[in-house]
Amino acid sequence: MSVTFERNKYAERMVRYQLKSRDIYDPNVLEAMSRVPRHLFVPSEPVSRAYEDHPLPIGHGQTISQPYMVAFMTQALSLTDRDKVLEIGTGSGYQTAILGYIAREVYTVERIRVLSVRAKKLLHSLGYDNVFFKVGDGYKGWKEKAPFSRILVTAAAPEIPEELKWQLNDNGIMVIPVGDVSSFQELMIIVRKGLNFDVKRSIACRFVPLIEGKIED
Ligand code: SAH
Repeated sequence: MSVTFERNKYAERMVRYQLKSRDIYDPNVLEAMSRVPRHLFVPSEPVSRAYEDHPLPIGHGQTISQPYMVAFMTQALSLTDRDKVLEIGTGSGYQTAILGYIAREVYTVERIRVLSVRAKKLLHSLGYDNVFFKVGDGYKGWKEKAPFSRILVTAAAPEIPEELKWQLNDNGIMVIPVGDVSSFQELMIIVRKGLNFDVKRSIACRFVPLIEGKIED
């Protein structure tokens, strides 16, 4: 782990009432979520509001996911300090900070340059030295750094992107919202087994769309 944080009573309360009371039990996830200062990732909101049980806008038409969704996806990845993670959709960098708190290394790709730059500055100021940022099209993953033991996509795709699957190592796990990008999707949990992929359908969810191709400055 590359960072330490002070105790945070807002985050601890969020963990108790929104995560433990539901079905989040992974000690790594509970520890990360009770420490990472979520309010720093939504600076335009009052501190307490940042920890409420819903997503919030982060500008550029994008959102920071609900705390429960961040926890659920991270738990579905079965993350440890041995993992090398690819994240698609840096956004505010909050999910990135949770991943980086637990995993060995995180590679995160965002298509909107200003969001990537802002998240990079914030994570560096918090002391993260195991998180690497790229502005690019997440559909293509991050080929030069592949393979990854875990891949998390935090925007919705109509189908599982082909390129991403092949950047997983054997027994690697990918978590991604798949389905109708204009309404609801299903969270899919994919495990690579050699040249095959086991696909499990999980909970219903709602994410902003994964947009192919163009980069935004
Ligand atoms: N995990 C983020 C939430 C991100 S919202 C957080 O905790 O704040 C989804 C993000 O995916 C948005 O920032 C959006 O710009 C980004 N995105 C959409 N399509 C993308 C693509 N093809 N490649 C990379 N990022 C993409």
